Amino acid sequence: KICRLWGDLVVNLGLSEEQAAVRQLARDFVEREIAPHVIAWDRAEEVDRDIVKKLGAVGFLGLTIDEEYGGSGGDHLSYCLVTEELGRGDSSVRGIVSVSLGLVAKTIAAWGDEDQKRRWLPGLTSGDYVGCFGLTEPGTGSDAGSLTTRAVRDGDAYVVNGTKMFITNGTWADVVLLFARSTDAPGHKGVSAFLVPTDTPGLTRRAIHGKLGLRGQATAELVLEDVRVPASAMLGEEGKGFSVAMSALTKGRMSVAAGCVGIAQAALDAAVTYAGEREQFGTSIAHHQLVQELISDIAVDVDAARLLTWRVADLIDRGQPFATESSKAKLFASEAAVRAANNALQVYGGYGYIDEYPAGKLLRDARVMTLYEGTSQIQKLLIGRALTGVSAF
Ligand code: FAD
Repeated sequence: KICRLWGDLVVNLGLSEEQAAVRQLARDFVEREIAPHVIAWDRAEEVDRDIVKKLGAVGFLGLTIDEEYGGSGGDHLSYCLVTEELGRGDSSVRGIVSVSLGLVAKTIAAWGDEDQKRRWLPGLTSGDYVGCFGLTEPGTGSDAGSLTTRAVRDGDAYVVNGTKMFITNGTWADVVLLFARSTDAPGHKGVSAFLVPTDTPGLTRRAIHGKLGLRGQATAELVLEDVRVPASAMLGEEGKGFSVAMSALTKGRMSVAAGCVGIAQAALDAAVTYAGEREQFGTSIAHHQLVQELISDIAVDVDAARLLTWRVADLIDRGQPFATESSKAKLFASEAAVRAANNALQVYGGYGYIDEYPAGKLLRDARVMTLYEGTSQIQKLLIGRALTGVSAF
């Protein structure tokens, strides 16, 4: 069993048999179902949609969700291990899981009433349904609490109007966990969360193309025009929507961090292999000290990012506070993934610049990790607030 990494004195980084088996399952899945298609999916700007059912069948969309709701159970370290392996294979696929399971299903499991859990969780965990998380708007990103989508009470329903931007899984999703302002309370206190089927009349979606990375992912703008949502679709209490969103993102950051560890590990594997094969000045480039510097920098980033990420999983599984540690892991791992992929690209020289080799895609995919689920600047403000008690937002 891993670790009591910080706090307690025991440091044991071994995995349990179950955790090692889950990681191997994920490695095999990536080899079989993802690796052969990565370049084609990236070029086509679309991951094969069948991957969702396959992810569900192997249990990866139900990790940490109770079996009675169709989940496959498991602890958060197992979730991290799977996320890391998926991130190592293809960040677009990793993102499907991080959002549909991590931000949507896990949030329904935490905040939903019995009807909501029974309505949505079995489909989300099996891959019959895809979930998306609708917080960001064209005018509100980092300052999410000032969102302007409105939900106005009308009898036993709410009528919702607004636009959501950059929504991962947006064009594929069957349900959106939507955040809208339902009362006149100031700031984020007026925000509520709703579970809205995406086939509800008045909800339209526009695919966003031309992304630098995560090209295989179905990112969309959602437009809501007089969308009628039953009051029973509210997740959590009225006015608690921002707490719902933040609780989802706090755990979600661990998932992003784990995906970044996967990117950095893929960068390391690729750089080491290529350095051993490529010859310049009469010997493999692995013999050149400055190439070794690039590789050792990647290796240190991989280990540091992984340790920070596993610490979050350990804290969650032990029921300890983890929000600040999640911000630290996400901040460090996302910046580390960018550095690692960039260093790997340097090891590849000119070949790193074309997409037949992996480093360029790793770098493109890594770059967004410093932006979403809270930019690096926002993570620093969260960490700074926790340490000083002063909000500098
Ligand atoms: P802004 O908030 O406008 O920030 C611009 C710059 O200002 C950044 O550098 C930021 O760090 C800086 N900044 C802002 N405020 C401060 C401050 N107080 N102090 C210091 N610096 C500051 N959102 C969802 O709701 N659901 C999704 O599924 C989702 N998926 C996404 C997928 C992709 C590919 C992308 C690109 C985005 C996604 N997002 C999603 C949105 C993402 O979370 C936002 O882009 C992010 O929160 C940043 O918001 P913004 O883009 O509006 O930037």
